[in-house]
Amino acid sequence: MEKSDRADRAQRHRKRMQRKKEIVDAAIARADQQKGLLLVHTGNGKGKSSSAFGMVARALGHGMHVGVAQFIKGRSDTGEEAFFRQQENVIWHVLGEGFTWDTQNLARDTETAQRGWAIVQDLLRDPTLDLIVLDELTYPLKYGWLDITTVLNDLEHRPPMQHVVVTGRGAPDALCDAADTVTEMRDIKHAYRAGIQAQRGIDL
Ligand code: ATP
Ligand code: MG
Repeated sequence: MEKSDRADRAQRHRKRMQRKKEIVDAAIARADQQKGLLLVHTGNGKGKSSSAFGMVARALGHGMHVGVAQFIKGRSDTGEEAFFRQQENVIWHVLGEGFTWDTQNLARDTETAQRGWAIVQDLLRDPTLDLIVLDELTYPLKYGWLDITTVLNDLEHRPPMQHVVVTGRGAPDALCDAADTVTEMRDIKHAYRAGIQAQRGIDL
């Protein structure tokens, strides 16, 4: 390449980057609001809960206070629970014990879920909690054990700077509509389908 061509290219690159920087700077200047966010992680791919717990680590790193409520069936000893329970700024509730999942006892499942939601309501009224993770909340919503209108109303009336992350497959449209950030994890491939068990440190 000729020397003048090289100089030309460098000049064009500089101009392009300059324009890009102006656009990015303007976008940053526009994004000047502070607000407690509602985030939804849904979809069939892996990464919904683990991303939420990544945010828990971020928040704790800033000295923030975090509440976690898990609407899961029974118990599995997860690494995140073992780790985060040791942190002094974390409150951790497992609310799913007693769910049957096959709705053989709808009345009992509903009662369990609603008892769980009462605990979440306390978290959502606590302005000292900066971040709340409602892990697998979409299931009790999907099965109708919790009333979506009540849930949305409680979320709406939480402290203005409190962030909430909801995880779980099949998030209801009304929840996604209310959210500020919605991410759908897409399943392209999962080791499970090749016959590989859930691996410690990766899946639990
Ligand atoms: P993770 O907790 O790993 O972020 P997740 O919250 O996105 O996963 P869940 O639907 O809560 O996914 O399922 C939890 C478990 O199921 C994890 O062990 C995860 O690896 C596994 N899993 C997630 N996606 C898939 C999938 N598409 N096929 C099979 N197993 C999956
Ligand atoms: Mg999950």
